[in-house]
Amino acid sequence: MSAKQPLCTAPEGSGTLDTLLCEERVFRPMPRIVAEANMNPQDVAIARARAESDWLGFWEEAAEELSWFRKWDAVLDDSAAPFYRWFAGARCNIVYNALDRHIETANKNKLALIWEGEPGDTRKLTYYELYREVNKAANALRAAGIGKGDRVLIHMPPLPETVIAMLAAAKIGAVHSVVFGGFSARSLRDRINDATPAAIITADGFYRNGRVITLKGTVDAAVAKCSGAAAAVLKKVVVVHRVLVETAMKEDRDVWYHDFVRDQPDEAFTESLDAAHPLFILYTSGTTGAPKGIVHAHGGYMVGVNRTLDWVFDLKPTDIFWCTADPAWITGHSYVVYGPLMAGTTTLLYEGHPLYPEAGRAWSVVQRWGVTVLYTVPTLIRMLMRFGRQNPDRHTLGTLRLLGTVGEPISPEAWTWFHKHIGRSRCPVLDTWWQTETGMFMISPLPVSLLKPGSVTRPLPGVEVDVVDESGAPVPHGQGGYLVIKKPWPAMLTTIFNDPEAYRRLYWERFPGWYFSGDVARKDEDGYLWIQGRADDVMLIAGHRIGTAELEAALASHPAVAECAIVGVPDEIRGEVAKAFVVLHDDQPPVATMMMTGETDQDLIEHARRELGPVAVIREVEFRSALPKNKNGKIMRRLLRAESTGQSTGDLSTLSTDI
Ligand code: ATP
Ligand code: MG
Repeated sequence: MSAKQPLCTAPEGSGTLDTLLCEERVFRPMPRIVAEANMNPQDVAIARARAESDWLGFWEEAAEELSWFRKWDAVLDDSAAPFYRWFAGARCNIVYNALDRHIETANKNKLALIWEGEPGDTRKLTYYELYREVNKAANALRAAGIGKGDRVLIHMPPLPETVIAMLAAAKIGAVHSVVFGGFSARSLRDRINDATPAAIITADGFYRNGRVITLKGTVDAAVAKCSGAAAAVLKKVVVVHRVLVETAMKEDRDVWYHDFVRDQPDEAFTESLDAAHPLFILYTSGTTGAPKGIVHAHGGYMVGVNRTLDWVFDLKPTDIFWCTADPAWITGHSYVVYGPLMAGTTTLLYEGHPLYPEAGRAWSVVQRWGVTVLYTVPTLIRMLMRFGRQNPDRHTLGTLRLLGTVGEPISPEAWTWFHKHIGRSRCPVLDTWWQTETGMFMISPLPVSLLKPGSVTRPLPGVEVDVVDESGAPVPHGQGGYLVIKKPWPAMLTTIFNDPEAYRRLYWERFPGWYFSGDVARKDEDGYLWIQGRADDVMLIAGHRIGTAELEAALASHPAVAECAIVGVPDEIRGEVAKAFVVLHDDQPPVATMMMTGETDQDLIEHARRELGPVAVIREVEFRSALPKNKNGKIMRRLLRAESTGQSTGDLSTLSTDI
């Protein structure tokens, strides 16, 4: 890394954040990428100008790319803001766009879904096959008395039936809620109580890390303890047969999936729904507190997801798109299932652990299926970095043309490793910032953008974000502040399920009229955005407000560090000081030597200070073999902070024991 100069420090109490990191590397788009891109730099400039001059017209054009049963009376109805209604008066169904319309085109016999199980078994479904499977499941749900507005909870591993169940529910106007297969009975019960589903679709079990994990028992335990209201609504538990285990079935309530769909016709009508009709409830990943039941609606969501996937991942008919997210997360909803299917591309779904049976599994998946676009999370990149470059080097990764990441700030170190060793310095790394709540990419480079490792670059055309201080005033370039979204966007959440007041309070109250993201960021002199961390995790060290991401990125640039997290702990003199939790690379001999001499922590503290300047006071370094993460791999700093300060650890329902 190049030598760092601390950039600017904000006046005390100004509500802005100090900027520490100064990453100077830039990556210009290669001519081949520019020549092939759907959106070349001129197109991007035109789109930005269009979005600025006629913002609603701009999103209306995006909506025209999809099929509707009835067009809208208004692109945006803001009469009940912040309960915005996109495409008011329109009627549609996202499944019509994701499946039905392809059956009339050359996509009919194209592969929609490639699935690979952890043991190595595979399944492939064309659009026509997926369409017929979805129709059968939709008919079965209807035959069981489930319909428009009912909730269908899907507690599944990543299987083709997970995708089929989501689409079948949406097709009949039911509202799906996918709950991660790795959650405990207690977490599942809380979500059942909140969503009160009419049906639960699950599996007998699945393969993870070479073991069979049973699942149906978790559903039984959750249902046995759920509220009377939830029990009264539940009609059916449908069980996919995936593994060989004894599975208890309750008469009248439980049914095997293959029996459930067996005699159903493979044509089913697609419900015509109001654009504002809810498509799904999805609980946030619980990094900062108890998960929230985020609601998305058919119309706006399909427009936002469709447009942003096309821009960012520049889809071509020949693409094999692998987004490694579990369908149970928003990334899985938008960019494993709905986005790629609306685009008519081939989406890849992998069931198991990315390191099973060996650390090269992910790369063998890329090679086996000829993956062209790989979209993943920093935690997996860090995990794979620990195994060194020899793993990817053993595989042919030449089909890859674009890489992407999401979910956490990616350190410049991890970014450049991904770029060099996976992308072989040919593939842009697209760092996409968005949330369960936003439904679609909000801030992201396009393949033709100039890239700076660690920066999410600029908002997409039609998306207006800013970085502001406590009072809502934009902070000068170079300083950090709160990331807000100043205008509604099509794929925005419509509410929090059962709690519209919380929707208003959590997102729209802090800066009236703007959406508060809960993240802190800074804009550099080129207008590029750098996510500095969560607002909840900001530290106040000797009057300097400091986000976690930059300190962590500085530590991560030390060759001995595999992964790290920074939290603030109270200090009598400075108010707060930074404490680092560090996981060291286990394959580096110098580390063992440093550990023996007790020099590692001083070495790390000095390294951070050299990188960032004297504001970066790390008081203490604690070595760990792993960091606490939530189920989708995000570091839970609030837990480390609670441990260090003796506070209560709060909601732990999403804590992972897996990674
Ligand atoms: P909860 O809201 O329950 O605490 P969560 O915020 O982790 O959970 P998600 O909606 O899955 O739930 O994650 C969105 C958050 O992930 C963002 O607010 C941001 O903090 C982080 N994030 C997403 N993408 C990026 C990115 N590219 N760079 C940095 N951070 C990111
Ligand atoms: Mg969040």
